Amino acid sequence: MKVKGIARETLDFILNVSKSTAPNEFAGLLSVEDGIITEVIILPGTESSDRNAVIKLFMMPNISSVGSVHSHPGPYFTPSSADRKLFSKTGSHHIIVAAPYDKMSWQCYDSSGNVQDLKVLDVELDEPEIL
Ligand code: ZN
Repeated sequence: MKVKGIARETLDFILNVSKSTAPNEFAGLLSVEDGIITEVIILPGTESSDRNAVIKLFMMPNISSVGSVHSHPGPYFTPSSADRKLFSKTGSHHIIVAAPYDKMSWQCYDSSGNVQDLKVLDVELDEPEIL
């Protein structure tokens, strides 16, 4: 599926959750509506280490998603080798957020772990849906 960007509210939501979860990490899956990432499916029980978050993602049943999001406790959003492995299996768009979880503290990667552009779009949204 062609992804046009991420809704600004959704990105804010991701950054806020990452901030409130820190120093624990959170992970989720991204789903799209009309080609725009508007929804985060937060995976339960992922507020531990990066490694645990990744294992949990691998174990998820088939949820229709375009990619993943997870937070790093430190200031670096470079994907680990486990992250890259995960990216290759869970879709085309992967966001990593890092401390201090402000508007600049994130990066989007493709399924090979290469940096890719992701537009932040102003769209009207309902309340974020937490599944
Ligand atoms: Zn990671």
